[in-house]
Amino acid sequence: MAKTTGRSKGASRAAEDLNLNHIVNRQFEQAARHLKYPKGLLEQIKVCNNVYHMQFPVKFGRRYEMVSAWRAEHSHHRKPLKGGIRYSMMVTQDEVMALAALMTYKCAIVNVPFGGSKGGVKIRPRNYSAEQLEKITRRLTAELIRKDFIGPGINVPAPDYGTGQREMAWISDTYDAFNPGALDNMACVTGKPMTQGGISGRTEATGRGVVYALRELFRHQKELAKWGLSGSLEGKRVSVQGFGNVGFHAANILHGEDGAKIVAVGEYDGTVYDAAGLDIPALQRHRKKTGSIRGFRGAKTLDNPTDCLEVECDVLIPAALENQITGANVKKLNCRIIAEAANGPTTPEAEAWLIKKNVLVLPDIFMNAGGVTVSYFEWTKNLSHIRYGRLEKRVDQAKRERLIDALEGLVEGKFPRKQRELLIRGTDEVDLVNSGLEETMINAYKEILDVRNRMRALEDMRTAAYVCAIQKVAKSYMELGIFP
Ligand code: NAD
Repeated sequence: MAKTTGRSKGASRAAEDLNLNHIVNRQFEQAARHLKYPKGLLEQIKVCNNVYHMQFPVKFGRRYEMVSAWRAEHSHHRKPLKGGIRYSMMVTQDEVMALAALMTYKCAIVNVPFGGSKGGVKIRPRNYSAEQLEKITRRLTAELIRKDFIGPGINVPAPDYGTGQREMAWISDTYDAFNPGALDNMACVTGKPMTQGGISGRTEATGRGVVYALRELFRHQKELAKWGLSGSLEGKRVSVQGFGNVGFHAANILHGEDGAKIVAVGEYDGTVYDAAGLDIPALQRHRKKTGSIRGFRGAKTLDNPTDCLEVECDVLIPAALENQITGANVKKLNCRIIAEAANGPTTPEAEAWLIKKNVLVLPDIFMNAGGVTVSYFEWTKNLSHIRYGRLEKRVDQAKRERLIDALEGLVEGKFPRKQRELLIRGTDEVDLVNSGLEETMINAYKEILDVRNRMRALEDMRTAAYVCAIQKVAKSYMELGIFP
């Protein structure tokens, strides 16, 4: 079990339990206390149904290597099951089970009709060539196929920490090789490249979902005032930990579309800081060129990667890994809101302190649900075998054009060319995806807020989010009954 023994001033602190599975179960139990379901039903919702631990060999030249991997299936109340695959040396069975549970709750919160699952491979991807990673990924897929742990109606993986479109394409291709001619093969995995059945907007979906959630919070000024903030996201100081898929896109959208000031970005090898706000696309180019965020022109490079957690800001976005904000470092934080883009970044001990200090924690099971939401859109796209917007785009455009012509005729004037183009543009797949994502995040936020406001005893958004999720999963289990 992972423990931290950080010390507070003077006295030594008791070790904090950092096992994510224990943490998720504690969070579940904290919420379950507010609900009146039979104990057995709550137990059924909480436990992880199946875990498959694989150990398979891969051959690199003359060398053999054993790879350890897991796929956990937390809940079958909806099918297929859904959840990413993580490549990291920190992967353990408990971590995968906890992440699968978070997927169940997340899907329920955003009304995505999937059960929760998660996968992990215990490797450091940076130590392998693309060819070696392809071997590992294809062998992993074969293992999952053999045990019925993957399939469009069974279990559908997606990218997570350390994986992306490339790995999803290998998974899809391997699945297709084992199931020749089956029409729905592409729906066996989401987060694929566009040319392999992917959907526009999936790559940035998790980060964009984080932004939509924040925008909704900022629309509720009375609520916002409770946390000592007002106005819009424009000019708000944001610090981001992790400049990968989720962290980069959240920062990029907040910077480019909302005018927020991204004052700090932290990576495993350091933090870059600029009180005036970092140019996020330029920082991304710098990282691609040099392999690191360090030494970004015009910004201060701080050696400690955790400095990004401690800088003064309005919104802190942890977007790397779990257990980043713990009892050991929480007192050094200097923010009003924590938007949990990563899974499990805040420990219960840290959260208790944050609640006491009136810092709003927007929980992972809501904040990062944008990824699975758009994965759901990709899955339905694959099953329908047609791109969203393909049929209606031109009809839509022609209607708009007629309307603009009529308006111009009435006022006997012309719209500027650029504005006219914008007004008549038909709806594309990415517009539909972002609209569906925005609608989903707004509704989920309102549902959680409604639960929190209705149940006076709920003091935090995480417990309210869990209550929301448990209620939905419980309803589903009660309707289904128990087989046999
Ligand atoms: P990623 O691999 O693309 O990026 C993670 C980044 O964090 C990397 O750049 C890595 O170098 C950096 N990092 C690692 N350790 C760090 C540290 N100690 N301090 C600062 N940075 C560090 O992964 P991702 O897909 O962006 O996932 C990030 C988090 O978001 C994970 O918790 C994941 O489970 C969660 N998440 C991802 C998705 C998705 O769609 N990708 C969906 C939901 C949740």
